[in-house]
Amino acid sequence: MNFISTRGGEKVTGAQAIAQGIAKNGGLFVPEFFPAVTEEELTAMLGMNYAERAATVLHKYLDEYDFDGLKEACEKAYAQFEGGDAAPLVKIDSSLYMLELFHGPTCAFKDMALTLLPYLLRKGCDITGIKEQVLILVATSGDTGKAALEGFKDAEGVKIMVFYPNDGVSKMQKLQMATQEGKNVNVVAVRGNFDACQSAVKTIFTSETCKQELKDRGYILSSANSINFGRLAPQIAYYFSAYLDLVSSDQIAMGDKVNFAVPTGNFGNILAAYYAMKMGLPVGKLVCASNKNNVLTDFIKSGVYDRRREFYKTMSPSMDILISSNLERLIFELSGRNETRTALRMQELAENGTYRIYDEERELLEQVFAADFCGEDETVETIYEFFEEYQYPMDTHTACAMYAAGNYMAANEKDETPMVVVSTASPYKFPQDVMYALTGNDIKDSFKAIKHMNIATAMKVPKSLSKLRDKPVRFNAVADKDKLYNEVIKFIEK
Ligand SMILES: *Cc1c(COP(=O)(O)O)cnc(C)c1O
Repeated sequence: MNFISTRGGEKVTGAQAIAQGIAKNGGLFVPEFFPAVTEEELTAMLGMNYAERAATVLHKYLDEYDFDGLKEACEKAYAQFEGGDAAPLVKIDSSLYMLELFHGPTCAFKDMALTLLPYLLRKGCDITGIKEQVLILVATSGDTGKAALEGFKDAEGVKIMVFYPNDGVSKMQKLQMATQEGKNVNVVAVRGNFDACQSAVKTIFTSETCKQELKDRGYILSSANSINFGRLAPQIAYYFSAYLDLVSSDQIAMGDKVNFAVPTGNFGNILAAYYAMKMGLPVGKLVCASNKNNVLTDFIKSGVYDRRREFYKTMSPSMDILISSNLERLIFELSGRNETRTALRMQELAENGTYRIYDEERELLEQVFAADFCGEDETVETIYEFFEEYQYPMDTHTACAMYAAGNYMAANEKDETPMVVVSTASPYKFPQDVMYALTGNDIKDSFKAIKHMNIATAMKVPKSLSKLRDKPVRFNAVADKDKLYNEVIKFIEK
């Protein structure tokens, strides 16, 4: 299977797409076509465990990787998840389910892909014949950074550097990154918000000068951000797995449709659902849930993407994003895979902060996607009310999706398709906000909040979070956004 750039001009293998991260012209790599999964193949996957299902889906795209190697890597990656099942589906009632993706080492769904990416990348470099060390640069709104650091710590032939917005992540997220272990890691806080952070990193990626200088020092750049196809591919697998779990527990019949509601920031998670659908998974609607930063809600409803608006810091920081990078891949599909048009729109976005898609494209968009956003008060109310009714505690991001799913179901009573709400983080990762929602109490200390939540909900505390308390802080550098490249050079010359 080959991969092409959404902005044209490049065709590479899957291994190369993953090793390189982003196309030379700034476009994103997409598969040349969507490989089909037939109903027969779906039936064969019913009896598989999560790792086998994931390897089966991955191999459809990454056919130059050998299947047994992929399977072994998936087994190793998903063995790190607490509780035995990497992506358990929890039934709330006959039409509502939670897909829990937070049982990995850092308690957010980013682990689903980032526990596997080191293998995909290293193997990709081997297949491609890349001899240099790989330098991974990550811009994070909070959860990607930690998951990438954990995934890549002490990996052979790799160095990883993470940049996060200094005032844009939760205390727990900051502590998780600041205490990161490993010889090959570095973490720097950036003055500015996530978008500033992301575009500063992207500047390094697309600068030929930077790339040449790094190459002279023996490094090639790669990305662990969700623009890397190696991030996207493992995420496709859990949509298949959730569907198969519904079939094998007789909740639905094979071929029935399922709706998914996804808390969305950079549009990576929900795009994976769209890819699953394109491969043949019976999907009804995809509900795109935003927080107060509702640029995607407006886009899906109006066909106009307009980032020229106030940026809000919310209690769901991993969704505080105004430029959703992965949307480029959807725009490309909606345009009938028109590279020129996609490139033009991305140029308009960069230059004017806005673009509009055609009416026919918006109709295609509306056939699949519904959209809604959840304000801060609604986030708090959703967590509280859902816990009151079902004794199920959820995190602030998941609450946005639950709120959007609830509104969708109320407005579309005729749609009896089961709804799966994608749960992207453990409530223990945002303990103060969740405890405020549950009890109205403002608890200043994260670990105290964890303790109180454990008493209030009886939900098990993830080991990786309770251990954080005793870990020494290793990283506390803060940099201006136009100085990130200096930090990179300092790091590799250390
Ligand atoms: C990253 C993240 C999201 C947003 O996912 P995207 O793929 O960026 O849309 C939602 N919730 C949590 C907890 C996250 O870490």
